[in-house]
Amino acid sequence: MLIDRAEVIVTSPDRNFVTLRLTTDDGLVGLGDATLNGREMAVVAYLKDHVVPLLLGRDAHRIEDTWQFLYRGAYWRRGPVTMAAIAAVDTALWDIKGKAAGLPVYQLLGGASRDGLLAYGHASGRDLPELFDSIRDHRAQGYRAIRVQTGVPGLKSIYGIAGNATSEANQGVRYDHEPAQRGALPNEEDWDTRGYLRHIPTVFEAVRAEFGPDLPLLHDAHHRLTPIQAAKLGKSLEPYDLFWLEDCTPAENQEALRLVRQHTTTPLAIGEIFNTVWDYQQIIREQLIDYVRSAVTHTGGITHLRKVLDYAAQYQIKSGIHGPTDISPVGMAAALHLGLAVHNFGIQEYMRHGARTDEVFQQSFTWSNGRLHPGEEPGLGVDLDVDEAGKYPYVRAYLPFNRLADGTVHDW
Ligand SMILES: [Mg+2]
Repeated sequence: MLIDRAEVIVTSPDRNFVTLRLTTDDGLVGLGDATLNGREMAVVAYLKDHVVPLLLGRDAHRIEDTWQFLYRGAYWRRGPVTMAAIAAVDTALWDIKGKAAGLPVYQLLGGASRDGLLAYGHASGRDLPELFDSIRDHRAQGYRAIRVQTGVPGLKSIYGIAGNATSEANQGVRYDHEPAQRGALPNEEDWDTRGYLRHIPTVFEAVRAEFGPDLPLLHDAHHRLTPIQAAKLGKSLEPYDLFWLEDCTPAENQEALRLVRQHTTTPLAIGEIFNTVWDYQQIIREQLIDYVRSAVTHTGGITHLRKVLDYAAQYQIKSGIHGPTDISPVGMAAALHLGLAVHNFGIQEYMRHGARTDEVFQQSFTWSNGRLHPGEEPGLGVDLDVDEAGKYPYVRAYLPFNRLADGTVHDW
């Protein structure tokens, strides 16, 4: 079973997606997600110029060998562009292997470890009434776990808030806190750490008072804090029993998490911008986190993220796979198959894609009682309608950036 054709398909139904489509000489088709939010075309070039010529004529069954060939052969290791490109190839090969076997991918990974995957959604509001509406709306959609982000008094625009929900550029589609905005230049947001640290505990106090003690609540600090600020936030949120505090520091400096851990029992989730197991080496070994946040799409595919999660399992660290709308339905399906199979599943991030995206990518996953299931179709269970995809050419979009009151650029 040889790889006969490799196409890189860029489509922008509600936002930009990059998909690698492999076809074997016996006619099986495999899809892999290569979407790198805000830098999509870099992965397109990497795939088209450097990877596609290497794939033609290769044995489609040799997933591990192909992974090692692309990773070691490039010499220039790691990094989001390289690892997203390798992820796309890896995921497409798992899709093909599933179709060749007549089995859903999770069966090839060892079979189901559970009946469905608990998923969390993103509630947000500029103030408490808007936030409460958003939480109620998510619960009505069936979510049993909720990420909570709010505005901070005095700040105009910050990550995580659906303030631009119906902007013209997004053609009226509400993406809760979708940070990538279509346009020539990135949006500028503002930030004040002291104001944030004062405000957020009052928000969680109000949410617990309104919605009770049972609802799992999550929060994303989005890399904006120093270790001592993160420690203070974790400590101040302890009375509200968070499921996790996410990306409390940038975490490139892995040992910084030791300081946070010494001060708080709030569980920590990190890793959506990490690409390899080596980014996690110290924080897993020293048990400095509780959840691994990587995406299949950004971390070398199913093959490599499985290795990260197996390493994490030795330390009772669980999965919390990245899954906002910047992961295509193909990347989401890969996450669901992997999450269903591994023993140390924790929770799955899940935002709904727009209607146009669902027309381009036909999916077979199910969503009921707050849980996701990848379905029983052979392979990943996602089809790409190439004609539909062709209606939506790439649109330039940037992630925002952030400045402090004195003009200093800050993590957004
Ligand atoms: Mg995050």
